[in-house]
Amino acid sequence: MTQPEELLKTLSDIAHDPGARLAACLAEGRKAVGVFPYYVPEELAYAAGFLPFGIWGAQGTVREAGRYFPAFYCSIARTGLDLALRGKLDGLSAVIMPSVCDTLRPFTQNFKSAKPDIPFLFLAHPQNRKEDFGVAYTISEYRRVKAELEAVADKKITDEAIRGAIRVYNENRAARREFVRLAGAHPEAVSPAGRAAALKSAYFMDKAAHTELLSRLNDSLRALPSVAWTGVKVVTSGILADGDNLLDLFERHGIAIAADDIAHESRSFRTDASETGDPLESLARQFAAQTDDPLLYEPDLAHRGAHLVELVETAGARGVVFIMMQFCDPEELDYPNVKNALDKAGIPSVAIGYDRQMRDFGQAGTSLEAFADMLKS
Ligand code: SF4
Repeated sequence: MTQPEELLKTLSDIAHDPGARLAACLAEGRKAVGVFPYYVPEELAYAAGFLPFGIWGAQGTVREAGRYFPAFYCSIARTGLDLALRGKLDGLSAVIMPSVCDTLRPFTQNFKSAKPDIPFLFLAHPQNRKEDFGVAYTISEYRRVKAELEAVADKKITDEAIRGAIRVYNENRAARREFVRLAGAHPEAVSPAGRAAALKSAYFMDKAAHTELLSRLNDSLRALPSVAWTGVKVVTSGILADGDNLLDLFERHGIAIAADDIAHESRSFRTDASETGDPLESLARQFAAQTDDPLLYEPDLAHRGAHLVELVETAGARGVVFIMMQFCDPEELDYPNVKNALDKAGIPSVAIGYDRQMRDFGQAGTSLEAFADMLKS
């Protein structure tokens, strides 16, 4: 059986060089569609034969996008547009851009005007996603995006093809959920950076190929003996936690990630879609079933806090690290409520600021070191 290190390295290499993956895909003659966060029904693009290619910005300095966004703007939007303006997304057949938050709404229009050579597919999700009228609205939006993808692909997307794509995606979501569980059980074999890279690589690969590699990694982790962890285990919460500089600090201070409530990670594969019936309705109901996400309307304010408490207890973690994306209103507005729930349950937490352009991790390192010491004592 292949050792976990070998498979982790393969996935990590993919996660660290998305540009090479896109170039390889195009060289093989497969077209790709860019997918911005959040909750895009990628299955529609997959069913049309495209490789859905995730774009959540990139770590580093913004060079061109400053003409469109001020410095105090979410770095997913700033660095995402920067990638486009520097030609890093050239070759994509189209991009699908949702508008779930107040940052993404203007971002979609800036992208459309700044990069007119990439066909732009707008997607609006309803706030009231659970009621029948909300589901009907989501279906109508998915139907419109499907028609636009058909025009780009110059072919019809059949219901059978979408159901096939849903099967491929459900298998991948299940493999990622299992990997999260195994990585939490084996922190001696999967570092925080390795864990993030294995999950991130899914954004740049055909999901069937990612499932195949990740399932082999899961098998190799399942075969490992149980080893007592001498550090501490936490749950991470936030939008993104994929920077090696940040995650190496977790490792340095003996902090393992037992589970996560990260938008780029577990929030994106918590919920499956039905593989039978009308596939557009299946995808709309999958979106309706998403909960415990500060980006989505939730009338029960206590719900997400209770979810996080349960996640900590189920994963055997000792605390929560909030990785707060700078200038992200939805996360910041939700934070006091969720923190109160943790405080009431006696679960310690710490919040550290993070964004795609961060270069100095001194303050984050000090906070994590103090938090780990506190949990150990
Ligand atoms: S990080 Fe926050 S502000 Fe930025 S796109 Fe995501 S939800 Fe919107």
